[in-house]
Amino acid sequence: MASNSSSPRDLQAIRADGVLRVVWADREATFPFRFLRGECGCAQCVNEWTGERILDPTSIPADISIERMELVGNYAVRIYWTDGHYTGLYTWDRLRELRPPA
Ligand SMILES: [Zn+2]
Repeated sequence: MASNSSSPRDLQAIRADGVLRVVWADREATFPFRFLRGECGCAQCVNEWTGERILDPTSIPADISIERMELVGNYAVRIYWTDGHYTGLYTWDRLRELRPPA
């Protein structure tokens, strides 16, 4: 259990600010919902074979928000977005690698 160092200590959807706050033991990051939705890596958003992004970022509602989140095993979170999309998993490794836009 303790081997997964990328596991966050806390995940908070701060809807008033439109961001997801991820807290790890050594640092934290704040991802705007719209950015995070655009980073969805599921087969509907990214071509599984070429890695090419299918999702048009401009199609994401500006007021996109998180309806709810569900832990998947101990390695990822599934996010239920208010646009009805929920097929993407955000693994802890992926969240660690993501850099919020400046
Ligand atoms: Zn997706």
